[in-house]
Formats: sequence, structure tokens, C-alpha cells
Amino acid sequence: MFKKFTFRGGVHPNYCKSQTEQMKTEVFPAPPIVVIPLSQHIGAPARAIVGKGDRVLVGMAIGEASGHVSAAIHSSVSGTVRAVKPFAHPSGHLTEAVEIENDGTDETVEFEPIGASWREAAQGELVRKIAASGIVGLGGASFPTHVKLSPPTNKPIDTLIINGAECEPYLTDDHRIMVERTEDVINGALMLKKILGAAEAYIGIEDNKQDAINAVYDRVVTSKFDGLKLTVLKSKYPQGGEKQIIDAITKRKVPTGGLPMDIGCVVQNVGTALAVFEAIMHGIPLYQRVVTVVGDGVRSPKNLLVRIGTPARTLLEACNADLTDAKKVIMGGPMMGLALPDLDAPVIKSTSGILVLNQTTEPVRKYPCINCGICMDACPIRLVPSRLAKFVEKNNIEDAISWNLMDCMECGSCAYVCPAKINLVQFYKLGKIRVREKRAAEKKAG
Ligand code: SF4
Ligand code: SF4
Repeated sequence: MFKKFTFRGGVHPNYCKSQTEQMKTEVFPAPPIVVIPLSQHIGAPARAIVGKGDRVLVGMAIGEASGHVSAAIHSSVSGTVRAVKPFAHPSGHLTEAVEIENDGTDETVEFEPIGASWREAAQGELVRKIAASGIVGLGGASFPTHVKLSPPTNKPIDTLIINGAECEPYLTDDHRIMVERTEDVINGALMLKKILGAAEAYIGIEDNKQDAINAVYDRVVTSKFDGLKLTVLKSKYPQGGEKQIIDAITKRKVPTGGLPMDIGCVVQNVGTALAVFEAIMHGIPLYQRVVTVVGDGVRSPKNLLVRIGTPARTLLEACNADLTDAKKVIMGGPMMGLALPDLDAPVIKSTSGILVLNQTTEPVRKYPCINCGICMDACPIRLVPSRLAKFVEKNNIEDAISWNLMDCMECGSCAYVCPAKINLVQFYKLGKIRVREKRAAEKKAG
């Protein structure tokens, strides 16, 4: 019934979404203590504007953006600041964070919405509201949204894509948002479209989310939501990658080393569209998000609306996770998420899921490369993964660069299909570190 769009390459992992895809989002109670990192986005960490002993309210700014590419941070509870110091972060590093003791009253700041008059509001006013609300890309990239919505004047945007692919296995938070908050996501998309002045706006949803497709179809096709088109995508990983979803929907290709804005496109995740709606319509900054807690080690998997700063451990306990046989606890999806070295690390703006996996299919180098070329077919951006890995292994960085190593999105599709079980992504990560070191040394040497 729907024409289905896709991109070249990619893989078909077992999606493992049945545990939670039909589970309605539950509101998770704010914990007694939250630890809110000042670095939850790409760019400069926020600067703390509260100190030990200060009283804070839900939605109060506790960190201000400290540069052009940075984002504000807000308290997710009301209570008292216990400390501003380094704490465990999902990245595995200690980073500066604000620790707050929850007083349990949930007293909020007075929110200042733009409200229903957003259609008449100036573009700049809407972007300032988004910046003040600390909104970043909630699909995992965490790029500050207000920056993405302010492209240079020589890069006009004609196409907005709302990314509802959710192609990572296990995760169902975006799926539930599209089913449960359909109109709000669509309104958020229309706000983004207005800000960008885009002529076209699409919402792309993979065909394994039929109820989300139906919900959006009902609103988009049969009602007042003019200006947004529904596009059904074939379920394939990494369909939710920016370049892949743009390719699937518009057939445009982001050039090597380029950005979507170079070809007139901006991609925003459905969770980001919802956050934009909340900020503009209700004045609510980003202090909570939906998180899927799931995996074969989780006995009561759920989709939860969680306050930022809630420790991963608290969510795992609430979902009856059994870590006895856990091979890995991951924040995010199994393909591109981060292995959590410390369960005290908190939920941050980019936390789409917490997974407890008792089995992993992680590749380990077992056999030498047999030059089968399967990895090349799987690569969604047409790199030559086996060759790149060999260049890095031999420390031949010049060749790795000229074979476009820096375009690799570390999606893991190549490693997923490799019959020799080579951990290819590990080579690309290492290669990129060496490229950056080389460039820094060249810069220093003048
Ligand atoms: S990890 Fe890099 S090289 Fe491998 S498939 Fe993904 S983009 Fe291609
Ligand atoms: S899939 Fe694995 S074995 Fe085959 S060419 Fe690529 S790296 Fe070599």
C-alpha cells in the first residue's frame, strides 16, 4: 500500500523489538539524587551557574552554553545542589556534573511558552527558545539543535526530514513517541519546518512500525497537518543514519566530508521534534526523555519517561535486571551504543536505551581477511572496509585518508557481515585517532 524507500548497502540484524514495542511509556519517578553532567552534547561543555547549597527547581537552568556549539543544561528535580564536581559519565570518563538532592516537591520554574501563537512568531524567537531550552539531537548525535537550525545564508534548506527510522535493534522509545504523541511530534515538525523555511518536510518511518505509520498517516493525510509528508522506509540498518535517510527519501547524496546542509537538507529525530514542541508550546526545557530498558538480562523491560541525571543502576533495578550472566550493559543501541563501564553513570539527553545483553555477536579477530568483499556491499557509504582496516593496521594513514576513512560513520555493518569475524570498527576508531594526531602535529609544526 505504501511505496517503500531505502538506500544502498546496510544489513538486516535481528531487531529484537518485540519485548517493548507495544509497551506504553511509563513515567518513572524522579530519584532521590540526580547527577546531571554539563557535557551532554557535541561541542563545548556547559558552564555551571549554580554551586553547592543552591536551591533549584525543575526546569531551572543550572548550566549555560559556553560557546557557539554548546547547549544549556536544566535541573530535572527540585532540591539542593550537593556538589559540582567530576562524576561518572556514560562515555567512561569522569566529567563535571551537578549533583542535586531531590526534595520531592517537584516544584517547577514558571515556564514561559510561546504557545499557539508560534505560527506568527519570528524565526529568531523560536530558535532562541530552543537554545534556551537546551535541546540537542535526541537520536544519539546530541548536536545542539539551535545550531543545526541556523545554517549559513549560503546554505538554504529546502527539505526537512523527521527521522523516525529507529533502525537500531531493541530500541523502541522513538516508536512509542510516534504512537503516543503523534500530534505533538507533527506539530514539532511543523515548527522546525517554519524555522528552516523548508518547502518540503517528511517524516520517515521504517516498515516494522506499522502502528506508528498508521498513527501518522491518520493525522497527516486526513487532517489539518498540512505540509508534512509520510515516507515509509524499508527496515534496514543503518536506515536512521542522516546520510542514509536523506538518500532514501530524496535520492540526494551528502558529499564526502560534507554535511546535509550542503545539499539543502536538515534531519531531526522524532524525539527532538517532540522536545521542540514542548519548549515552544509549553515552555518546558529538556530535562527528561523516553528510555527503553531492555535486553535478555532485563526481566521487566519497559519504555520509561526518565529525568535526566537518573543513574542507570536505578533504572536497571526498577526493571528487574539480572546482571549475573550479562556480557555487556550498553547505553544506546547494540550497534552504535556505548558499553557502560560504570552503572552509576546517569541518563543523559542522548540516552535512548539501556540494554543488558547476555549474548553478544561482537566480532573478534578470528581469521585473516579472505577478501570476500561482503563488507563492501554492506557499507552504506560505499567505502572499502577491508582495505581501510589494512591501511590502519599497517599505520598507512595517508592512504586511509585518501580512501575516505574520515567518512566512516562507525555503523558496524561491515563487521556485522564479516565471515572472518574481524572487529573492523576498532581499526576505524584507531585510524581516526591517528589522523587527528597527525593533523594536530602538522598544525603545531606550522
Ligand atoms: S563502519 Fe564504516 S566502513 Fe564499516 S560499514 Fe559502517 S560506514 Fe562502512
Ligand atoms: S568481509 Fe571480512 S573477510 Fe570479507 S573482505 Fe571484508 S574484512 Fe575481509
